[in-house]
Amino acid sequence: MTPKNKAIFLDRDGVLNEEIGTYVWQPEKFSIIPGVPESLARLKAAGYLLIVVTNQAGIAKKLYTATEVRACHAKLQAACNDVIDALYFSDAHPSVSESILRKPNSGMLEKAVARFNLDVAQCWIVGDRLRDMEAGANIGVRGILVGEEDTTFAPHVADLRAATALILKAV
Ligand SMILES: [Mg+2]
Repeated sequence: MTPKNKAIFLDRDGVLNEEIGTYVWQPEKFSIIPGVPESLARLKAAGYLLIVVTNQAGIAKKLYTATEVRACHAKLQAACNDVIDALYFSDAHPSVSESILRKPNSGMLEKAVARFNLDVAQCWIVGDRLRDMEAGANIGVRGILVGEEDTTFAPHVADLRAATALILKAV
């Protein structure tokens, strides 16, 4: 089948919800960053599927469970008008178990490429860590870094709102 769909891969913590410096799994501490619902709506209107890809190593460390991750994702969807098409999380941590799903590996993205028949050349990944950029680059997906990371990676913008402007302006 010829790839025909396009998507935005979204890291979660620090892109969609506030980075709190530790694992966030309680819905009451899961705080959505201003501008995120509107940015996702704009990307969706431009024809992009929206796919969250998040490392949740706290599961491997037994700090919280997949059920709690899903509760946060339900809050995210509710705040964003259910606009997200899929949410993948990797529960692995190298101290417990290796996984091809855990970024900077690309397993979560590859699953979505197969499931949604994506053309990677039309996709982007937005993340706040270089490992997000690496996960995209591994399979030919362009990256936009957001946030405070001290790096020379480009493009590097403030937040998802700015990343959205960049994507919608690109040919
Ligand atoms: Mg992050």
